Amino acid sequence: MIQNAHNILRYYSPILKLYLEKCYKHNEPLFFWGIDLVSWGFAFRKGLVIWLWTILWGILGGIIAIVVSGGALVAALIAGTAEAFFGAFLAIMAGSIFGMLVVSIGTYASIVKIVTESTLKEQEKLETRMCPQCGRTVALDLKFCPHCGKSFV
Ligand SMILES: [Zn+2]
Repeated sequence: MIQNAHNILRYYSPILKLYLEKCYKHNEPLFFWGIDLVSWGFAFRKGLVIWLWTILWGILGGIIAIVVSGGALVAALIAGTAEAFFGAFLAIMAGSIFGMLVVSIGTYASIVKIVTESTLKEQEKLETRMCPQCGRTVALDLKFCPHCGKSFV
């Protein structure tokens, strides 16, 4: 029963899968405070990369907002009519919304990209073998399969 729940979680979450592999490998109980998946130094380095990407997306979003709304504002100042200013107001709104979309989606995309890539890299570090009885992936230094109980010694 508990084993089935673990298998479902392992299937659906690569990060949780990585965590469970480490728990099995070290024969640790399955508590989230039991083992650090990654060190804080590693997390801060990745955090810095995401932060730099966020700044980059912020600059790009700002440029887009200025380009979209700036032309309309200049045109309104030249024309000087109420309609032109209303049009400029709409263009500034549209430019701001579009710029914010670029910043937020770009930031989230950067997080997904960096977290996924670093998870896969960490996963590669764990040496595994295939259980001859059930065919599942198991940490290399385990003495028996955590899924089916097959002994490797
Ligand atoms: Zn097995």
